[in-house]
Amino acid sequence: MRKKYINLAFKCMKKKSLGYIFRQPVKLLGLALSVILQKRFISPLIATLIPTYRCQSFCRKCVKKNSYHASPEMSTNEFKNIISQLSEMKVSAIDFSGGEPLLRDDIMDLLSFASKKGIFTHISTNGYLLDRKKAETLISCGIDSINISLDSTSSDKIEQLTGIKGAFLKITDAIKLLLEARGKQKKTTEIGVVTVLDEDNFDELPKIIFLLKKYGIDGLTVNPLHLFPNSLIKNSISEKNPGIISDLLRIKRTEPLLENSARYLKLLKHFWNGEPLPIKCLAGYSHVIIDTYKRLFPCLHWHELGGESIILHELNIRKALGSDLYRRITRKTLQCRSCYWNCYIETSLIFDPLLSLFYKSKSD
Ligand code: SF4
Ligand code: SF4
Repeated sequence: MRKKYINLAFKCMKKKSLGYIFRQPVKLLGLALSVILQKRFISPLIATLIPTYRCQSFCRKCVKKNSYHASPEMSTNEFKNIISQLSEMKVSAIDFSGGEPLLRDDIMDLLSFASKKGIFTHISTNGYLLDRKKAETLISCGIDSINISLDSTSSDKIEQLTGIKGAFLKITDAIKLLLEARGKQKKTTEIGVVTVLDEDNFDELPKIIFLLKKYGIDGLTVNPLHLFPNSLIKNSISEKNPGIISDLLRIKRTEPLLENSARYLKLLKHFWNGEPLPIKCLAGYSHVIIDTYKRLFPCLHWHELGGESIILHELNIRKALGSDLYRRITRKTLQCRSCYWNCYIETSLIFDPLLSLFYKSKSD
């Protein structure tokens, strides 16, 4: 199982209420039953909120920035209403993503609001806006976890990948300032890095790990580069590096920093061969995304694949999740084999041994 889930479970045991702890096994069981019977018995485990699609960066890996359009974004109160509903529905975690979420002026208010509800609160950021003051404010919001993207240790390459001058320095400064702020405030916020791997940076992984260990980062998660909508094409990475999966597994054995599970890393051989995901994807039941244009959909890549979403006209999440249209959408996600994105697939892997008793799985 992904190391982060184990760490988070321990952290929740220390910090959250007993009710929160006892609810989690029930939710996991409910999720398995929902998938087997294709009927939703529980609310999603994880909700991702997209407060904005605006972003200063121009990453070629970006799967979300194309979703930006000129409609007004949801207001602070509307987002607070959404967070309150998610809290009542007992979702286990809220992830603030984007675009770049720190571009919202009210983001610290929204993060504190979610954290005070006792929900596990996480933010993914490019870090460019994090000066000392903002890093301290972010840590003081009481959030549980922060991820920053870093795809190379070469400043030139990072500038090429993001289109932003000085991006490497901005990212590494943000990492250092967050770690400093956490130390100063004696908080336990997990600070991690996400690296998107492709043939251009795979051989840099040991260097990235070395750098992150030097800084004292808590964990590194890797995702393979997906170029939607044609995410499943044979990639030259495994031709150039025939031993790539054994290399990843060796790094996993020797570097506790690498968060991905060994089972997930083994699956990547199928991805780089251009093969569809060989297990059932549970994203439609385990996750839900709500974006700033009041759209509700199952995963971050759904629109890139031409999938439908539901508009939350009355901001009523339960009603949307229970609608016939959303039932059809979740059933489609069970058939979808289009990505190997870590957060969805690691959750699906937890259930694969049980589900393979009901469905045929070819995960190895
Ligand atoms: S920083 Fe994130 S949201 Fe912005 S362009 Fe890059 S991947 Fe997209
Ligand atoms: S495989 Fe799952 S997470 Fe990936 S695009 Fe399809 S439904 Fe979304």
